[in-house]
Amino acid sequence: MSLQTNSKVVTRFAPSPTGFLHIGSLRTALFNYVYAKQHGGKYVLRIEDTDKARNTPEFEKDIMDGLVWLGLQHDEFFRQSEHAGKHKIYLQKLIDNGAAYISKEKIEKEGDRAEVIRFKNPNKKVAFDDLIRGHVEFDTTELGDFVIAKSLDEPVFHFAVVADDFDEGITHVIRGEDHISNTPRQILIQEALGAPRPVYAHLPLILAEDRSKLSKRKHGEAVSLAYYRKLGYLKEALINFIGMLGWNPGNDEELLSLDDFISKFTIEKVQKGGAILNVEKLKWLNREYIKKMPTAELLNIVSAKMPNTQGEILERALPSIVDHISVFSDIDSLAASGEFNYLSNVDDYPKEKLFWKDESDGSVVINHFNFALETLKKLPAEPTAEQVKTALWDYASEKGRGQVLWPLRYALSGKDKSPDPFVLISILGTIQATERINAAIKKLS
Ligand code: GLU
Repeated sequence: MSLQTNSKVVTRFAPSPTGFLHIGSLRTALFNYVYAKQHGGKYVLRIEDTDKARNTPEFEKDIMDGLVWLGLQHDEFFRQSEHAGKHKIYLQKLIDNGAAYISKEKIEKEGDRAEVIRFKNPNKKVAFDDLIRGHVEFDTTELGDFVIAKSLDEPVFHFAVVADDFDEGITHVIRGEDHISNTPRQILIQEALGAPRPVYAHLPLILAEDRSKLSKRKHGEAVSLAYYRKLGYLKEALINFIGMLGWNPGNDEELLSLDDFISKFTIEKVQKGGAILNVEKLKWLNREYIKKMPTAELLNIVSAKMPNTQGEILERALPSIVDHISVFSDIDSLAASGEFNYLSNVDDYPKEKLFWKDESDGSVVINHFNFALETLKKLPAEPTAEQVKTALWDYASEKGRGQVLWPLRYALSGKDKSPDPFVLISILGTIQATERINAAIKKLS
């Protein structure tokens, strides 16, 4: 049945522009792209824009932009509406050869009669070997003579899909499991048109963490690529994440690039059961890709978000900033809540904050500060955290770590929570650190 002999693989992604590019559709696009590329074939993008009431140019643009941004560049592009002439010819052909007929039918509500084109169902068993789901059989009898067009100019979805797949030479139909029940109808139409049958692969559903079906109504924006993109997720992380919704390389490898998918993806190993969209996993992946970014690029992004912080300080603070975020938009919320204020100034704080637990003797704290000031003088202007730690550790161990390090950290950051004082000094440099310790001494005096 299949036309695999000597034919080049041609896959297609066929979104209907009736909504923003959905994570599930994106996985369909990715697997079609990857499958075509790994077989030296062609990947077609076909916008199925025949539902005029629900299509919008805005959604079409969102879909195209999203795919290009992720690097899933198509080799050929079609818009289904541009094939209306062809659809008409095929419909006429089916009517002429008796495979379809025009039927005048009463429209329930209006009591009018209208014409539809119905497919003459041969009422037989249709079987196909799905690359993922294995052998699938359907008895098409219960489908009856199903409608394939409202008129010669208005084919329904099943018909248009089959006609276009035929015209575009699609060899592999890789799509969501929600389409599996359409397949028998489409096979019957193919046979009537004399079209070769493509190989089918139906991908498992994508489920939310509570195992409910992912839907826009229930899960809102979090189903669309645009949402993750707006939050600043990196495309590498998104590709990696989406490619592992229902597939994995069979070992413990977690970080896979688009090229890795092309070399490692095995469609037969895609799981049959629903794939759970685990946002924590996406966050983890995103952090891994942030950590891999070249410092200069990272610095550009971070400094645009924190314009009040001195460049050198920001550069030294980068590892600690990155440590606190999963996605770049986290910087905005952390900065808004004052988390990074210490990089440019110390928020005012009451002097009691400088006392560790039930300590209340300011002169003891001043002594620790003086030791720290003496130590800073002996360090390079921009010491590493390790150097600072080595210089202060024995003293802190002897006098009590909390007693020494808490006030020091507070004096340097003005915050209950911040990096440890060694890191703070390495970020601020000894000059600023000295100023901040002196200001704390002043408060206590
Ligand atoms: N246009 C259909 C959809 O967006 C896909 C049709 C197909 O893949 O066969 O769900």
